[in-house]
Amino acid sequence: MQLDGHADGPAVDRLLLLLPDQLHASYLESAGLDRDADLVAQMELAGDFERVPSHQQRTALFLAAMRHFALELESDGWRGLYVPLDDPENDGDLGGQLERVWRAVRPARLVVFRPGDFVTLEAVEAATRELGIDLELLEDPHFLVEPEAFAEWAEGRKSLVMEHFYRRSRRRLGVLMTDDDKPVGGSWNYDQENRERLDEEAPERPPRFRCEPDELTREVLALVEERFADAPGRLESFAWPVTRERALAALDDFVVNRLPWFGAYQDAMKTGEPWLFHSLLSPALNLKLLDPRECVERAEAAYEDGEAPLNAVEGFVRQLIGWREFIRGVYWLEGPSYAEGNHLEATGDLPEPYWSGESDMTCLAESVGQVLEHGYGHHIQRLMVTGNLALVAGVEPRQVNDWYLGMYVDAMDWVTLPNTQGMTLYADGGVVGSKPYAASGRYIERMSDYCASCPFEPGERTGERACPITVFYWDFLDRRRERLEAVPRMGLALKNLDRLDDAELEEVRRRAGELRRELGIEPRAE
Ligand code: SF4
Repeated sequence: MQLDGHADGPAVDRLLLLLPDQLHASYLESAGLDRDADLVAQMELAGDFERVPSHQQRTALFLAAMRHFALELESDGWRGLYVPLDDPENDGDLGGQLERVWRAVRPARLVVFRPGDFVTLEAVEAATRELGIDLELLEDPHFLVEPEAFAEWAEGRKSLVMEHFYRRSRRRLGVLMTDDDKPVGGSWNYDQENRERLDEEAPERPPRFRCEPDELTREVLALVEERFADAPGRLESFAWPVTRERALAALDDFVVNRLPWFGAYQDAMKTGEPWLFHSLLSPALNLKLLDPRECVERAEAAYEDGEAPLNAVEGFVRQLIGWREFIRGVYWLEGPSYAEGNHLEATGDLPEPYWSGESDMTCLAESVGQVLEHGYGHHIQRLMVTGNLALVAGVEPRQVNDWYLGMYVDAMDWVTLPNTQGMTLYADGGVVGSKPYAASGRYIERMSDYCASCPFEPGERTGERACPITVFYWDFLDRRRERLEAVPRMGLALKNLDRLDDAELEEVRRRAGELRRELGIEPRAE
């Protein structure tokens, strides 16, 4: 139902504003919505895709999934109201559109589930205050741990250790636990088995599970192509699930075709192969087309039926009930000021290749190239290639955070901010990670085949073929030595730094400065 003419419709008691990433029937059930008395509103807001430059596939994914969900609600008998992007009176601003909807419908109350970002929460609260609306703010039923429960867990702890949170969640939920409350298999995690390289003996990778765009999605793709023509990324390869039905099919495909090898190869990287054995479920999960509980149940059942090994299933489960929930807990615990941290005082600009994908550095060209093409990169590419380079080259956290939020189809602020600000950049001074995950080109050489076709040499820190990542790594240790000395887990790295003689260190510094200028990082003030 469109907004125009709604004023003549039947009276509305509660209006549920479903945000763009809340696309599951559980929201309506959880709110106790009444089909006859209540109404569901969805709004396509340009501001959501323009606050930071949003990859065209990311924008298209949101819009296509929202439109499909609105149709599902309608066919399920719900009264709905939808504000499309191309409504001439849609100014793209949450406050303005909420006011329009409110005046048209005149409900008794507004119901909103906790948004996935501070900006939206503040906008909802400000708009309801201004309009004098009675707001019911509910917790998001998709997640396993509410922010308040996370804050209780965090209370009084010297540091927030994900592994402790994860074990507690396993116990609480009874996932991969024995009857006498021990982890199945005797160990809480199998990371040591999950670091295989993709060599010739590795199993063949299954093709990507594609969800071919239907007519409605093709309309959205055309709309995005026209309206967001200048936005980064390309649309051609769009094949993400945009309905719950297709998301469930993607889950099936993962469990059968990828999960058995997911664990062993989860940290591997390979030229020209963006998908490997990864689940590719995060976009559907973060739009809430899938529920984490059903994903965990499917994976656990695959283990119990002997269809997937424990190292793979445990690794997948840890991502879902451990890391994902932990990161969200940190986001709400830390609050909006978390984004302002810059513990390592990084002030450089984001290198230009992050937008073009053009670079002599194979690891960077590959990792960014596939992001531009598909809006996707797996966690090790995010952490150890694009993230590591930003860390060791000294790029300003705000620019890195914005890039991660805009460029990935699964990106929401609650997930990208703590991952980037905390895990990747150590800009939070150690809230999320116990040390900066800085690495030289040697790590990339070990986990990928990128270096084999690169003009640089990962083990070289000086000379014509010195690997830029390696140069930046040693320069980072040197530049930020004072801060890093306070981090116990950096002791060994700093000891290794001491082994460089003065001439070599001077050459590293010189080359790092040169590279910073070449890549457009050039610090504004250091
Ligand atoms: Fe990347 Fe260095 Fe390896 Fe080239 S040599 S791919 S720049 S890590």
